[in-house]
Amino acid sequence: MTRVRFAPSPTGGLHIGGIRTLLFNYLFAKNTHGKLILRIEDTDQSRYVPNAEKYIYDSIKWLNLALDEGPESGGNYGPYRQSERKQIYQEYIQILIQGDLAYYAFDSVESLEDLRNRNPNFKYDASVRNKLNNSLTISKEETDRLLANHVPYTVRLKVEPDEVVAFHDLIRGDVQFNSSELDDKVLMKADGLPTYHFANVVDDYLMKITHVIRGEEWLSSTAHHVLLYKAFGWEKERPVFSHLPLILKPTGKGKLSKRDGAKFDMPVFPIEWNEEGSLNSSKGFKEFGFLPEAVLNFLALLGWNPGNDKELMTIQELIEIFTLDKVSKSGARFDFEKAKWFNQQYLLRLSEEELYPYVKRIFLDNGNSIEEDRLYKLINLFKDRVITLHDFYNQSLFLFQPLSQYDETAWRKKVDESLVSHLHLIGKMMDSIQDYSKKTLEETLKSYLIENNLSPGKIFPLLRIAVSGFLQGPDLMATLEFLGPKESTKRIERALELL
Ligand code: GLU
Repeated sequence: MTRVRFAPSPTGGLHIGGIRTLLFNYLFAKNTHGKLILRIEDTDQSRYVPNAEKYIYDSIKWLNLALDEGPESGGNYGPYRQSERKQIYQEYIQILIQGDLAYYAFDSVESLEDLRNRNPNFKYDASVRNKLNNSLTISKEETDRLLANHVPYTVRLKVEPDEVVAFHDLIRGDVQFNSSELDDKVLMKADGLPTYHFANVVDDYLMKITHVIRGEEWLSSTAHHVLLYKAFGWEKERPVFSHLPLILKPTGKGKLSKRDGAKFDMPVFPIEWNEEGSLNSSKGFKEFGFLPEAVLNFLALLGWNPGNDKELMTIQELIEIFTLDKVSKSGARFDFEKAKWFNQQYLLRLSEEELYPYVKRIFLDNGNSIEEDRLYKLINLFKDRVITLHDFYNQSLFLFQPLSQYDETAWRKKVDESLVSHLHLIGKMMDSIQDYSKKTLEETLKSYLIENNLSPGKIFPLLRIAVSGFLQGPDLMATLEFLGPKESTKRIERALELL
């Protein structure tokens, strides 16, 4: 049984890169009929952001990605919040200390800073540890005395030099490090809490994680993790590693950052992120008017490719074909235009009934409530023209307020004296149509054109400008139907007055 975990640290809003990691873990778990575990890695007190954990749950809920185990879902391997596992880390660090695989380091923060100031390349490792203030250089009695007196200490991993640290990564192939390049990583901090490396390895072991799927930025840490598995004698249980490619900025060099959201006017969070105590808020894909299904489909293709041209895939289809060997090594560009295309495609595929609640919400949020049958008509009018849900509102504004702009050039190009009088008559005629529907309108207008020997190409563009201001817009007859007879007549008269 495969078991994977998504292990975010609540140090800020979970951004879209984190969601991509979650999604790949989800797809892998479902594809292999395994379990997906959520573990909150909250041992870095200095970077803890209070509302970040709730934000993780809210985001996961919006995306509709079901978890099998976690702080909220429960499970047999809890607690799933690292801050509730302090006792466990204390027990496990003792195993390493007793086995001479880790040691107490009493060096003060100042003394280490001083060493770093004197040598910017300073590394606490086998070449210097024998000259520093730790349980390898002082006697057992002195160590016990310092511990009894609560002198602050950290616990460090004793990394032996000149060893090859190797592992196989499902995406990157064989990866090797030389242990001489690695420092004696701090495992337990002076505040009694574990570092990321230590807690992460102990928990992956205890939670029986079989595959670690995470961002490329953790690749170099894996060397220390491999050493930890070895130190504990857990090599057989060591999970298989996969490091996902970076997500790159839409243009230029470098990896996508949270600041790129404001810079490129695009979302980099799933839902709105508001850091507690900060005035800054960042809109997410949800607030930009995206459907969660479209966001997931877009993210699935950031660094993964099924090996054909197929792009639109439901979550079920993605689950069926997702494999880690199709994940690429090279960075994936975050193309917001592509995200919009996905959203448009998903919106097109929704029925009016499915769209209704979303569109209603958008109108209500804008202080506008529309009767049900009119809202359905509006959805129909704009369904194949919108890219985000907000477009239903933005594009239809002209239906609810007097036109403030007209394409005057196009009007002048098309209009002449005789057409003006025809338009007056058509305007009057509209007010007298009994059943004011798209169908009747079409029939009435068509017979008027035939009777008067007019071509549609002459009159329709003018009508269109009169009712919507521009040549482009949703279906003309449906727009007239939506406006109703009075408003249609009024718009035609007004255009004739103004233009
Ligand atoms: N807590 C780490 C993070 O914030 C987890 C990395 C990992 O998956 O090992 O991304």
